[in-house]
Amino acid sequence: MAHRILISGAGIAGPALACWLVDAGWDVTVVERDERLRDDGQNVDVRGAGREAVQRLGIEDEILARNTTETGTEFVNADGKPAASFDQDGDDGPTAELEILRGQLADVLHDRSADADYRFGDRIDTVEDHETHATVRFAAGDERDFDVVAIAEGQRSRTRDRLFDGVRLDALNVDIAYATIPRGPDDTDRWRVFVATDGRQVHLRPDNLGTIRAMLAFQTEPKGFDRLEPAEQIAVLRDRFAGAGWETERILDALSDSNLFYESLAQVRVPKWSTGRVVLLGDAAHCVTPLAGLGTSLALIGAYILAGELTSDDDHRAAFDRYEQRLRPLAEDVRALPPGVPGIAYPDSKLGGDLLRLGAKVAASPVGRALASVTPSSKSDFELPDYPSDALRRS
Ligand SMILES: Cc1cc2nc3c(=O)[nH]c(=O)nc-3n(C[C@H](O)[C@H](O)[C@H](O)COP(=O)(O)OP(=O)(O)OC[C@H]3O[C@@H](n4cnc5c(N)ncnc54)[C@H](O)[C@@H]3O)c2cc1C
Repeated sequence: MAHRILISGAGIAGPALACWLVDAGWDVTVVERDERLRDDGQNVDVRGAGREAVQRLGIEDEILARNTTETGTEFVNADGKPAASFDQDGDDGPTAELEILRGQLADVLHDRSADADYRFGDRIDTVEDHETHATVRFAAGDERDFDVVAIAEGQRSRTRDRLFDGVRLDALNVDIAYATIPRGPDDTDRWRVFVATDGRQVHLRPDNLGTIRAMLAFQTEPKGFDRLEPAEQIAVLRDRFAGAGWETERILDALSDSNLFYESLAQVRVPKWSTGRVVLLGDAAHCVTPLAGLGTSLALIGAYILAGELTSDDDHRAAFDRYEQRLRPLAEDVRALPPGVPGIAYPDSKLGGDLLRLGAKVAASPVGRALASVTPSSKSDFELPDYPSDALRRS
């Protein structure tokens, strides 16, 4: 009988794991609480070993074909003139070679794993661990047995919180609102970043759909704004960003019709990533947040390693342990923010903003990288392990 896995969450990590295990001949079920694939989200990048993972999956060309068209990054003054510029330069630097809208990447991975059984509009109710299997009761009411269960429900995973001890979400005191707004005549193919006063940042990025992706980021104690209704979040943003300058008014005016996505940044820490037959994957295990970067690449790398370990060993416990031993050091390395971040990237005064733009002029400056909320490196020294399964070999 084929090995049976239930994956909870059809974001990036879940479908990536499904791709590998379908290829390896496993019986794969993916349950997603949303009624459909969540094809929203803004620009994400795939770097380092994450890029190697998509090459091995055979989807790199599809990702390149859906490139967001961003050619580089600029830190601008209030008048829109560039103060510092970074051209797209391979895997390092603010704009990577593989830039794709999150929803389009989810779509590519979902299509690539079409042989999995996707159950939308449902979720895990309970998991009962037995010697030979785990019995899952779904919210829809039915029960099924699986050999292993992977929880890939993202940063705020509720199943993780029910099944795992010691879960911590460490707030970074930064909220980010992502909005999709009409493209204007002066918009460019650059990621433009404006550091305003009072701990605020305003970003505009091009996409491949003819719209513009706006990001409003600001420092705040966790106030639960992420749990408000969109209309209330828009009111918070209008209040917080009043008078910020540059293109802010235009973004605020367009928010009502912008498919707003709002998050309060928090890094996830879980003492152990598996319990019994259940294992954590992606942001549910180690969310690093966009301030650290590499979250999508980590999800892709983790899915590859977990699939490799599971297909190499019939003992799921040993496989889970090796997966964690291999991935945790990388996740912790990525999560460690440069000294002073995020505070240094969200200055209170105009002088602070001017100093940051000056810092950004020095292309290699850690301050510049922190300012752009991007990873300082693709961690290119991390290499994907090789596994005996044909499905996980380099093609
Ligand atoms: C809608 C959305 C938009 C995003 N936009 C951005 C962005 O613009 N920029 C950025 O850097 N990162 C964004 N992210 C986060 C980014 O996708 C992740 O940091 C990274 O790719 C790791 O992905 P993941 O699969 O672990 O988690 P996610 O991509 O968060 O996927 C988790 C999936 O699990 C589902 N889920 C949650 N709870 C349950 C449950 N109880 N049962 C079943 N399914 C459940 C969610 O609906 C989601 O589909 C976004 C995430 C989401 C869900």
